[in-house]
Amino acid sequence: MSVYNFCAGPASLPKEVLEKAQKEFLDWQGLGVNVMEISHRSAEFIALAEQSERDLRELMNISDDYAVLFMHGGGRGQFATVPQNLHVENKQAVYINSGIWSDGAFNEAQKFTQAIEINVRNDADGKFNCLKPEHWALPQDASYIHYCPNETIDGIEIFDTVKHDAPIVADMSSNILSREIDVNQFDLIYAGAQKNIGPSGLAIVIVKKSLLSRQGTQKASIFDYALEAKKESMYNTPPTYSWYLAAEVFKWLKAQGGVAAIEQVNIEKAALLYDFIDNSQFYKNTVANDFRSRMNVPFWLNDESLNQAFLAQSKQAGLLALEGHRMVGGMRASIYNAMPIEGIKALVDFMHKFEKEHN
Ligand SMILES: *Cc1c(COP(=O)(O)O)cnc(C)c1O
Repeated sequence: MSVYNFCAGPASLPKEVLEKAQKEFLDWQGLGVNVMEISHRSAEFIALAEQSERDLRELMNISDDYAVLFMHGGGRGQFATVPQNLHVENKQAVYINSGIWSDGAFNEAQKFTQAIEINVRNDADGKFNCLKPEHWALPQDASYIHYCPNETIDGIEIFDTVKHDAPIVADMSSNILSREIDVNQFDLIYAGAQKNIGPSGLAIVIVKKSLLSRQGTQKASIFDYALEAKKESMYNTPPTYSWYLAAEVFKWLKAQGGVAAIEQVNIEKAALLYDFIDNSQFYKNTVANDFRSRMNVPFWLNDESLNQAFLAQSKQAGLLALEGHRMVGGMRASIYNAMPIEGIKALVDFMHKFEKEHN
């Protein structure tokens, strides 16, 4: 039986990547040891690091105006690192609150800088138009503007970009590499790796080099963007095994045809699942069409007393980790790049069967 893992994070990795890692576990590049056992300063590892950066730059079309950093501390590490690096005396950072993760970023930022939060969760029209950046009442002056284009828990995705003179910072932990974006519309993009890139703990930061001269606040050296850029993410020992797996995921993605190609698959996957939910009287998703996440699909059974049976039987059918986040309940299918369309078909078949049995 095929097993499909719908975990929100740490999430599924491409099977081909895991198989390659398994094959190389005891002997990487003929060295007779695992890549995690060698020096990060060895020629072999530096070649890996450089290749992975080139691959990511190619995949996302990142220009030389940006530094690409491989850092420690995952997504939440960046919740603290962004304000520490981008703080400006007597200016406010603006945080857009579109859901649970962006609100979390704001709460952390307040420890390090003056920050205000703009709530865009007020769904007065029932169409989620409050989430359109053109409707956001942004102050003229800000040290930076932070938002989260994909709210992993709420299942909300913001596809339009934000236009403003202040630097635009985006937490793309759960949708990086899932669709084409114009990096030039952003000043800083960060992502914890464990959704679409690799193992947890690693964070990818794409930061405009012109921002590196900002003094910011006092900070630990390992969280200093300018220092990390200068040291090519090797000020201290980077998470080398995670970096290796991320590098393999980038190669895998290139072999799939890159971001444009996987975006088409992601559109198809999401449509299959949302269409099924919309056409059912048994399941529901309440996010307006234009703002539905392609990566995280929360859904609810109309009869919530069936939740435990749904989870137990789906697990038996090889469909793992469908329980919704504890803060919102219900179910959630996270369908990142590594989830093949067969996984969505298997889920829809199961949901259909479950509905027939319990209706
Ligand atoms: C998962 C996630 C995070 C947190 O990542 P950690 O690596 O657990 O700190 C932050 N932001 C978003 C949007 C996420 O999905």
